[in-house]
Amino acid sequence: MFPLGHVGLTVALARLAGDRVPALSAAPLWALALGALLPDVLDKPLGHAILDLGNGRILFHTVLFALVVLAAALAISRARPAAAPVALALALGCGTHLLFDRMWEDPQALLWPLLGTEFAHRGFEPAGWIAMLLADAYTQGTEAAGAAALTWVAWRDGLLARVQAKVRPRKSDAPAPEAVALARR
Ligand SMILES: [Zn+2]
Repeated sequence: MFPLGHVGLTVALARLAGDRVPALSAAPLWALALGALLPDVLDKPLGHAILDLGNGRILFHTVLFALVVLAAALAISRARPAAAPVALALALGCGTHLLFDRMWEDPQALLWPLLGTEFAHRGFEPAGWIAMLLADAYTQGTEAAGAAALTWVAWRDGLLARVQAKVRPRKSDAPAPEAVALARR
């Protein structure tokens, strides 16, 4: 899956789960987005540029990594409750990333190192991502769903209303308070 789908669907899930998990309801958007993209941010350079496997779903697309992040998030939340929203947002993002990448289709990577310590050499070129975006129905569908989810969250969080309030012209003909203050100087 691509970034818009990962971020949009993770943010929407956090907002839905936030009704039951108070720490998640306060999760900042930046932490959710970072968590949702973290496996790719780490694995794409590692798998393509550093290890030259042509495989961007390796060490950080494993259940092991998701569990390490979750354990760290729970420990941090217990030690410093104020940091819980950020820590849990990162853990949620790493977990949903594996789900939306359908990592169960690559059990050798997902369950690493249980099925062997080697990662598959796929020979995938980064240019292939453009073809995937143009041709793959799952990628297109999840990108559209991510965009819709982000729009819903922006409306739900009142972000759209705040932007509209800033760009909407003033209804009153009376000079703005800032203009009056400037005129008095
Ligand atoms: Zn990924």
